[in-house]
Amino acid sequence: MKNINSGSLLLIYLLYIVVTEPACAIRVSLSSGDGGGDVAIIDSYKLSTDTALKSESILDGHNIYQNRRLLGDGNNDLTHYVEGNGYNSKNVVKSSGPLSISTSATASPQSASLSQAVMGTGNIFAELQGSQRTDFVEQKTNVIGGGLSLSQSLAAGSLLSARQDTTMNGGSCFLEANSLSSDNAMLVNGIFYTVDDISADLTAASQGMAWTMGDIFAYGENCLDKDTLRMIGSKNMGLSFDSSYLKDSENTEDAPIFKGSVQTNAVNMDRDVFDSASQASQAQASTESALQSQTYGGRVGNFWGWLPLGNSYDGGIYGPARRWNQENPSIQLYLLTDSNYYAEGLNTNSVCAAIQTAANIWDAATYQRLFASTVLPSSSVSRDVPDGKSVHSWEYIGLYNGVYSPGHAHTWYTTSSQEDGFYQITDSDVDYNTYYNWNTNGISGGTNYDIETIAVHELGHTLGLADLYNKDNAPLYKAQVQQIMNYQYNHPLWLGNGDRQAIWAMYGR
Ligand SMILES: [Zn+2]
Repeated sequence: MKNINSGSLLLIYLLYIVVTEPACAIRVSLSSGDGGGDVAIIDSYKLSTDTALKSESILDGHNIYQNRRLLGDGNNDLTHYVEGNGYNSKNVVKSSGPLSISTSATASPQSASLSQAVMGTGNIFAELQGSQRTDFVEQKTNVIGGGLSLSQSLAAGSLLSARQDTTMNGGSCFLEANSLSSDNAMLVNGIFYTVDDISADLTAASQGMAWTMGDIFAYGENCLDKDTLRMIGSKNMGLSFDSSYLKDSENTEDAPIFKGSVQTNAVNMDRDVFDSASQASQAQASTESALQSQTYGGRVGNFWGWLPLGNSYDGGIYGPARRWNQENPSIQLYLLTDSNYYAEGLNTNSVCAAIQTAANIWDAATYQRLFASTVLPSSSVSRDVPDGKSVHSWEYIGLYNGVYSPGHAHTWYTTSSQEDGFYQITDSDVDYNTYYNWNTNGISGGTNYDIETIAVHELGHTLGLADLYNKDNAPLYKAQVQQIMNYQYNHPLWLGNGDRQAIWAMYGR
């Protein structure tokens, strides 16, 4: 709608909109340049009638300064592009519900920076991307049915970087921080299902090599920390952290109430591996959506209620699935017999037998020796480190607002090689929460848990399966309560059809 070009004169341009007509669409483009280079800012707005926007742009020489302030409600959609000399950036905010945005941006032919605060409730999607030469960084934040307080920033020019500092909660939340260079790709994301307290501070940067750093917390508990991200960034490796949360039911006779789940992923890989992996995962996503629509037709029943680890939330770029890439991998499980464990007052033979029985359920489905035939007690193995030893242990897992996780799985894999599109899992550690009382008598309820019951689900993660219940874009999977990889906390245990299909697809039958 507006086009303004400027040589070197100072020009102040003010856009002040209070929308009174239904859904207003505006496009503003500003550019500046000489023989040495050009810069252009292109803004598009689709605003609801309940939204006011004030945008102020100053062209001073070859610099463009922009400030904007939005206060609104209803459906709003803002896009901000900057095209400079050898770099690009993009910022998108889409929302449905109360929203406030405050942005300040600077752009010259050589560099750009943006900092922005986004606050709101309802559904909000915010994306920030930058690229220059073969470098690319992005931050994505998505809340569905919740609240968000987000501060984002981007710098392009010399070092390319994007940051998000986020707190959010909601029915379904998602965040992502990715960095790509010609050398490597580092991808970090978090998927949260009905989690009340999520915070993250993530920076994605690229200059010659790509790295993503920071922390992700859920329920005040660190799900991905700086040291782990630093280690992953230094190697061809990945980590998936899976945790489900439960709330004690009012009546301790009843089974616990499923409360929510957290999955975080971090992976570092060579750029060419990433390029082929993202093509593969797109093919996988389209196959899955075809299967899903078939299933909705009722022809397939619950046949396909399963998802491998690495299956992306939105058919995007988290790389392909991973598994143990051997016939009969005979994964040796260890039981860490430390003071935490002894404080439970359990019988070690019974605990090893309970974990082994859980492992045998997966072995029996594949007629393979996925797991070794005995669980080895040891006082010298370590939990939650990628040392090639899969260790089951007891530790205190934080609690917040009466919400507790009975168990976690940390699954490590290498991105150095692939087989049939699967990365190689190298280690998977399972932690049981000392908050609860543990037993081997098959009974879970209130604050008591049966070890085998939790172990079957967590060992599904060890083999490369993802949780079903946090796939908000796949309601059919969430409804698959007969699958072990949904939330299943009651004895007796058996694999659902989807669990079986999953393990057959990955390990044969
Ligand atoms: Zn799980």
